[in-house]
Formats: sequence, structure tokens, C-alpha cells
Amino acid sequence: MQRTLSIVKPDGVGKQIIGKVISMFEEKGIKVIGMRMLSLTREKAKGFYRVHKDRPFFDSLTDFMSSGPVVVMVLEGEDVINRVRGIMGATDPKKADKGTIRNMFASDIEKNIVHGSDSPENAATEISYFFSEMDING
Ligand code: GDP
Ligand code: MG
Repeated sequence: MQRTLSIVKPDGVGKQIIGKVISMFEEKGIKVIGMRMLSLTREKAKGFYRVHKDRPFFDSLTDFMSSGPVVVMVLEGEDVINRVRGIMGATDPKKADKGTIRNMFASDIEKNIVHGSDSPENAATEISYFFSEMDING
């Protein structure tokens, strides 16, 4: 069993598709074992995306991520990190496969509805950025 962190970003909350995003994971047998709605401060968004701090889109991305509430969740399943990224689709919705969350709902490369960790190391770091073991019901 593996865990990953997913986030319904402010555009997904704004479009009122929190439930649709979660359904896309649950329909594939992925379990939600932790979940919370919160608003990221700019500082907290910057900390979360610190690996991208030198990218030209860092300020825009962290402004966007702190522009409204998000839903953070811990997901569990076999090979869940890769499977969640597959269900999300490519970062750029124009390149995302048909039927993926980003293909169906995202408006652009930044406002792309959903986050998913990209490696076991980053999943562990990202989960602990938002959740203590007590908040997780695996
Ligand atoms: P992800 O793992 O597919 O989410 O993509 P990355 O880790 O590469 O980027 C993190 C997030 O930054 C993406 O989900 C987008 O919201 C945003 N992002 C990535 N590339 C770009 C870009 O070229 N321009 C802008 N404005 N935002 C980007
Ligand atoms: Mg990433």
C-alpha cells in the first residue's frame, strides 16, 4: 500500500467539482484516508511549492494557490502515486489525455484543478506538510 497527497486547487473548489474529483479517484478503488479544507497563505503556498522557487511561474502559481480555499487529501492504494497522476492527466490540460481530470475540467497549465505527489519521497514530505499521523485514518 502506498499513500499520496492530492489537492483540489482553488479553481476546482470555485468550479464546485470537489466531489467530481474525489469520485474520479474513488471509482478507481483509491481510498480517501485524510481530508481537510483550508486556505493557504502565500507563505504556506510558497513552502509547498518550494521546489519550483526558481521557475518563472512561481509567483503566479503561489498567488493562484493562495487565492481561495483548497481541499487537501491523503489517498491510499496500490501504486497510488502513479495512478493518481494518470487520473489527473498531464500538467498542461491541452496535453492531458481524454477522460482525465485536467482534460475535462482545467482551463490552463496553471489553473489545472488538481495536485498529486510525484514520488514516494515527495508524497511523504507533502503529506506531513498538512497532516499529522493522528489525522490519517488508513
Ligand atoms: P504537476 O506535477 O503536474 O502539478 O506539475 P509541476 O510540478 O511541473 O508544476 C506544479 C504546478 O505549477 C502545476 O500543476 C501548475 O499549476 C503550475 N505550472 C506548471 N508549469 C507551469 C507553467 O509553465 N506556467 C504556469 N503559469 N504555471 C505552471
Ligand atoms: Mg509536481
